[in-house]
Amino acid sequence: MSTCLAYGVHEAHAPLEPLRIERRALRDDDVAIAIDYCGVCHSDMHYVHNDWGTTRFPCVPGHEIIGRVTAVGPAVSRYRVGDRVAVGCLVDSCQGCPACEQHQEPHCTQGMTPTYNGLDRISGEVTLGGYAQHIVVREPFVLRVPAALDPRYTGPLLCAGITVWTPMREHGVKAGTRLAVVGLGGLGHMAVKLGVALGARVTVITTSPGKAEDARALGAHHVLLSTDPQAMKDAANSFDLMLDTIPRGHNVNPYLMLLGRQGTLVLVGALEPLEPIHGALLAINNRSIAGSLIGGLQQTQELLDFCAEHQVLPDCEMIDIQDINQAFVRMEKNDVKYRFVIDMASLKP
Ligand SMILES: [Zn+2]
Ligand SMILES: [Zn+2]
Repeated sequence: MSTCLAYGVHEAHAPLEPLRIERRALRDDDVAIAIDYCGVCHSDMHYVHNDWGTTRFPCVPGHEIIGRVTAVGPAVSRYRVGDRVAVGCLVDSCQGCPACEQHQEPHCTQGMTPTYNGLDRISGEVTLGGYAQHIVVREPFVLRVPAALDPRYTGPLLCAGITVWTPMREHGVKAGTRLAVVGLGGLGHMAVKLGVALGARVTVITTSPGKAEDARALGAHHVLLSTDPQAMKDAANSFDLMLDTIPRGHNVNPYLMLLGRQGTLVLVGALEPLEPIHGALLAINNRSIAGSLIGGLQQTQELLDFCAEHQVLPDCEMIDIQDINQAFVRMEKNDVKYRFVIDMASLKP
């Protein structure tokens, strides 16, 4: 066992503050990682505030982790000390159920172990995340960061990136796919960049005219203002796939109308009830609504390799850990383009 510095909370609605935490002694297949950067996800804020009523305290958030290997257990074969590695939203699963065997670890029938606020499968201890100097993770849940990826900007691929990458791969986005992205936050901006890199014709759908220029700067081919009734009417039946990144319950009916034959709307943001859906809008054009939750380990590695090859990286604002409470306030106001990343070198005694 070892101890390290971290940032976290002991109770809901308290500001994040320095804590000293313990990391377990290495098991045979464990990798010890010194954390260099950690992205800041909306979920981090929700857990710190206990918005979902499921937070275990003390809570140390962070699941967009980039670091270097500092030690390995005797059974570890894929990593050596010094390797540049990443850890995303999960740190364990049963690895024996059909979901795990099909590389869909987030859907493990025994429940995946989240990187923070989960319970370790062996010790039962609460998992603590990446707002810390170090972390210890089982080898199968450690990802390799290709040398061509700038480690400062790689963290957000581990949650925001994989959340939109998985449905794009699942639904076969390729050259010429008519892809719509609803919302232009952390997830939406990644969806635009990845969609463009896959060759899709990308349209950003937004309520705010002010975001049109931002969307085009990210590579979007078109911008559709959902507040413009004529523009929405003109865009009816015109998309193959739509990624809906709106992070709260909303009315999807105006978006469903925009889907062409066999078109699918994938929800990746809203984890709460939606307004009632009009059945006729699904029947017409044989449309579907689907969901998607982060992604499996193999697919996350595929994403990192793809982003290295195509030099697709999130737009990030680097912060020191001491600025994290201010960053949460700004995130609540959507005042970030498009992801905060903590430079963990700022975490010192
Ligand atoms: Zn996240
Ligand atoms: Zn499983």
